[in-house]
Amino acid sequence: MNILLLGAPGAGKGTQAVLLAGSLGLKHLATGDMLRAEVKAGSELGKLANSYMLRGDLVPDDVMIRMIQERLKAPGAGKGVVLDGFPRTVGQARALDSGLERSGLRVDRAIYLVVSEEELVKRLAGRGRADDAPEAVRRRLVVYRDQTEPVLAHYRAAGRLKEVAGEGEIDDIQRRLVAAAK
Ligand code: ADP
Repeated sequence: MNILLLGAPGAGKGTQAVLLAGSLGLKHLATGDMLRAEVKAGSELGKLANSYMLRGDLVPDDVMIRMIQERLKAPGAGKGVVLDGFPRTVGQARALDSGLERSGLRVDRAIYLVVSEEELVKRLAGRGRADDAPEAVRRRLVVYRDQTEPVLAHYRAAGRLKEVAGEGEIDDIQRRLVAAAK
């Protein structure tokens, strides 16, 4: 079972993806976490990624696609994954679909965590991460609208998209997600 958790920056994908992966026995793969680990380790990839992240821009597709394909092949991804933060462009979505297909797999569910713009801005302002400076947040929301929203249309057209309300109590949102994953 391979599940995508889609939604704007600040929608709560990270929090919910960890819980969802835990309750379904799937592996949680978060590209933002992977990139932050590379930045912390001071790797070449981390240095490259950091310049994009601090501006609120996306790390180039070729880098991200290579990164996710390695992780999908790694042991522990066998039962399936909850992907959090990937795909963020239609190019990434197509690469993911065809990569999975080559292994006889697919995206079983694409779940869109819906949160109002007003709530997103409030949450991002309170988070205090290095890339949560006001300029970078504004840029991330624009990039999301331009490059990531089309990913929703991609999976909607494939008949795989489910929407889940992402505001309210964490536990209530989680219950809705578990139901949508069935
Ligand atoms: P958010 O909470 O904003 O969803 P993430 O932790 O998922 O944040 O990602 C932080 C940053 O890492 C993004 O703004 C982007 O620069 C980079 N990033 C993460 N995933 C991807 C991806 N799939 N493609 C390109 N860049 C990515």
